Amino acid sequence: MELAHRDITYCKNVGAKRADILRKELGVNTALDLIRQYPYKYIDRSRFYRIAELDDEDTYVQIIGEITEWHTIGIGKAQRLSATFFDGTHQCELVWFKGVQYVKLQRGVKYLLFGKPSRFNHIYNFVHPELTLWEKVTPEMTQGLEPYYNTTETMKRHGINSKAMRTMIAGLLPDLKAGVPDTIGADILQRYRLMSLTDALINVHFPKDTPTMQNARARLKFEELFFIQLHLLRQMKRREQNPGFALPLVGSRFHALYKALPFDLTGAQKRVIHEIHDDLKSGHQMNRLLQGDVGSGKTLVALFCCLLAVDNGYQACIMAPTEILANQHYETLKAFLAPLGDAVHVALLTGSTSQKNRVPIHNGLMNGTIHILVGTHALLEDTVQWQNLGFVVIDEQHRFGVAQRAKLWTKNQMPPHVLVMSATPIPRTLAMTVYGDLRVSIIDELPPGRKPVQTIHYSINKRAQVYAFVREQIQKGRQIYVVFPLIKENEKLDLRDLENGYNELCEAFPEYKISMVHGQMKAADKDLQMTRFANGETQILVATTVIEVGVNVPNATVMIIQNAERFGLSQLHQLRGRVGRGGDQSFCILLTDMELSTDTRKRMDIMVATNDGFRIAEEDLRLRGAGDLDGTQQSGIPFDLKIANLSTDGQLLSLARQAALDILDADPLLEDEMNRMYKRQLDLKRAQMPQNWSEIS
Ligand code: ADP
Ligand code: MG
Repeated sequence: MELAHRDITYCKNVGAKRADILRKELGVNTALDLIRQYPYKYIDRSRFYRIAELDDEDTYVQIIGEITEWHTIGIGKAQRLSATFFDGTHQCELVWFKGVQYVKLQRGVKYLLFGKPSRFNHIYNFVHPELTLWEKVTPEMTQGLEPYYNTTETMKRHGINSKAMRTMIAGLLPDLKAGVPDTIGADILQRYRLMSLTDALINVHFPKDTPTMQNARARLKFEELFFIQLHLLRQMKRREQNPGFALPLVGSRFHALYKALPFDLTGAQKRVIHEIHDDLKSGHQMNRLLQGDVGSGKTLVALFCCLLAVDNGYQACIMAPTEILANQHYETLKAFLAPLGDAVHVALLTGSTSQKNRVPIHNGLMNGTIHILVGTHALLEDTVQWQNLGFVVIDEQHRFGVAQRAKLWTKNQMPPHVLVMSATPIPRTLAMTVYGDLRVSIIDELPPGRKPVQTIHYSINKRAQVYAFVREQIQKGRQIYVVFPLIKENEKLDLRDLENGYNELCEAFPEYKISMVHGQMKAADKDLQMTRFANGETQILVATTVIEVGVNVPNATVMIIQNAERFGLSQLHQLRGRVGRGGDQSFCILLTDMELSTDTRKRMDIMVATNDGFRIAEEDLRLRGAGDLDGTQQSGIPFDLKIANLSTDGQLLSLARQAALDILDADPLLEDEMNRMYKRQLDLKRAQMPQNWSEIS
């Protein structure tokens, strides 16, 4: 029977009990599911080490040598066996804590030692190594790469460790060798020089050498990425065939705003407005991602696009991830639109909008007197009904998933155009997966006259110098931010840090006025404090990360980040973006502890070295790995990645995306005989997806 249809219970070396655990722990139901559990690492059993070659790395090695001496320490359960192992020139120590009575050692015979060395007092030791008499070592044992499999605690408790996984998979090898149907067409395999699925599956588990193993893995990674891209791009193509509101007119409001601006748009801003307008007049629904570094002027671009909708007789909305950001957008829009008088009516709707104030908003949306609505998730409530919503901006900071985006569509007869703004630059590979169903516009230019922010990293013991610098800047008329890490707004401990910091600054700068804002304050108090700082009534603003997404005070030139080691790279970059918004040279001072981990030091070095948000995003991905990035899990990648890694497989991803595009360009609905296979596989995967994913169209 085909491996894909064979119940795991009836596979060799498995049986009912193991099958049950495999099903529950790994979701393995069939023989093929088991084969699709790939090793996470390999140990090269064909390589023999000398003790002199070992370094501190925690990898498995094997060494040939003799036991020269051993002794036991302690008695009973606390007994410990220690032996000296000699490879002809150097020696190391072997240690057993458990099952000491079962370890039988012999002098004057050759052994194969296998284990993970660690260094202690200048001598390498192996705890519980595998020790095999050399005469008992079979050629198979020291041949090629030994695969290692992830197993859960429950699996281990029932004896299904990595070795057991290997044995079970080995039991399927003869059937596997008979061949499994490929998931990728021969043309693509040939064009991208990829192994067949059968060869890849054999060699991912039992590779004959490292290059073969790498080729096998590359093929499987490609496959994984290819189907994700095919899925995303098929959605994109499908939607591009959806009818959409045609918004061809560049009307009076648009022109009026352009004339009223105190500055000209940057080339990049003009270019992306053109890209968006091309979509808007096409008669098809737009789905576009707008990326740009902090301060590149995305909000203004969004406003111009909203006006395109309004000038064509449609409504628009801007949805922000937090209330503070929604407020900020609302204020920004109102300020930009002030010269236009009554021509554009903007309203704000958030969770804290009172019931009384909601009524006129709901009415205004229904009768079309409100042109642009700014808000938070509150926009998604069922009570919010539009006369004719034509254009949606989602300012998302990774926080709205594809599923949530789709919710907005259902509010209309026809889906509105959607512009997703990413406030944090995200790496290319992640953009291609998380936002792979969107066209991308990039603002790659900052407004003119901005001087790059100078970033300096100090240890906490340099506080006096930092304060002297702060004083000097304030004397020049500048203002200062001091940010404390308050990761969770309700952490009492952090709040105390902030208050201590505030008191300390009050003592250090008795001659100046200091504002303080944090997430636990009442909105009105927060506003008051922010406004005082924005108006220049206070010189220093002590704050938590609430200011990360908000304020725009061009006169503030210094951003001091306390305990910078507690922030991620993207967050540090966001915070730094609060300064450097005016014409004066700005500074970002990263204050850290004296003792830093290697990773922290790297983060600080990157911040000091570059202001380029995209480069920082790439480094962030590299340092933290893809799974760890803010909100990646929620915003999601449609299918789980089992073998591909977004932080290291960027090149394969580009190839896979190209391969998927080539197919869809010729056959958008996958109807050709050759492509039906892909369609079937996608449908199968979609059926296994969480509900909210399969609903999206
Ligand atoms: P982003 O949202 O991309 O971080 P903003 O839209 O907040 O950037 O813009 C940052 C600042 O730059 C705002 O004060 C905005 O008014 C200003 N700005 C935007 N576009 C321009 C431009 N073309 N020239 C000068 N200043 C601009
Ligand atoms: Mg902004």
